Amino acid sequence: EVLANQIAAGEVVERPASVVKELAENSIDAKASRIDILVEDAGLKQIRIIDDGIGIESEDVEMAFKRHATSKILSREDLFKINTLGFRGEALPSISSVADVVMKTATKGKPGTLLHIKGGQKEELKSTQSREGTEITVNNLFYNTPARLKYVKTNATELSKISDIVNRLALSHTNIAFSLSNNGKTIFQSAGNNNLQQTIGAIYGIKVAREMLSFTGETGAFKISGYTSLPKVTRAAKKAISILINGRYVKNFALSKAIIEGYGSKLMVGRYPITVLNIELDPLYVDVNVHPTKQEVRISDEDVLAKLIADTIYARISEENL
Ligand code: ADP
Ligand code: MG
Repeated sequence: EVLANQIAAGEVVERPASVVKELAENSIDAKASRIDILVEDAGLKQIRIIDDGIGIESEDVEMAFKRHATSKILSREDLFKINTLGFRGEALPSISSVADVVMKTATKGKPGTLLHIKGGQKEELKSTQSREGTEITVNNLFYNTPARLKYVKTNATELSKISDIVNRLALSHTNIAFSLSNNGKTIFQSAGNNNLQQTIGAIYGIKVAREMLSFTGETGAFKISGYTSLPKVTRAAKKAISILINGRYVKNFALSKAIIEGYGSKLMVGRYPITVLNIELDPLYVDVNVHPTKQEVRISDEDVLAKLIADTIYARISEENL
């Protein structure tokens, strides 16, 4: 069992950022309205995630760390239909097989539970005083899998990957207040007030966000909306472009290209606009035949959607006479 979990961990838990992603997604699934992410040494020493979600019943806590013990049984096809991010039931068993994990959780009006698992072995299970929600602390990630540790990059790189994950989650869940700190220093904070432009401001700066152009567009099957930066406000990194399909962060080369095309010759080669593009579509249009932890998706009638995006952004920029 421990070995199976460590093998699964190889797939699910690549680095500190993947732990942050899995745990924060669990908090989102638990309907948290606030998620605080505190890391030490870019997550290699410690990752602590505190949410105000629904918590886990004391009798279910141990089960949550067993393989495939998901409470969210779904098919891949359901991915873009429903409001849950987890579905494999692998994150907690995987993470706790390669780290020293303590979970404190409580449901409304009930005493809390503390479970300590180290390297897949239960160290302690007891009831404890805790407010509603879940706090999970992951210490010494990969302490027992040195081969994994070798793939981990510098703290600066790992921290920027964590930061990217948290930014994406904040952009796709503007109703949740996120915070991220490293060694006690706050790196990011979103208000959770459903304001996308303000969330963009928390990531890219208030001034950039204020100057962004909002856009909307529609064809038969697709509806798009979002914000995109002035042609002079660009980044050298592709990740400046965020694409959300039905509220889920995805990667799609053709659609990113369509955004850039919308700028025509106004964009310098090799520069990327800061864009948050929301796409609403019938989930049947999403080809989910791709690995679930990868964010790449294919879409039916992708060329129609790409044209809508390019045309909408082109029109918006022309309108401003930029
Ligand atoms: P999955 O998310 O795919 O179901 P996980 O291993 O990530 O699998 O989590 C296992 C289960 O533990 C979840 O289905 C959920 O019931 C519970 N759980 C995990 N994290 C939280 C949390 N922060 N709040 C409430 N329940 C949680
Ligand atoms: Mg999960």
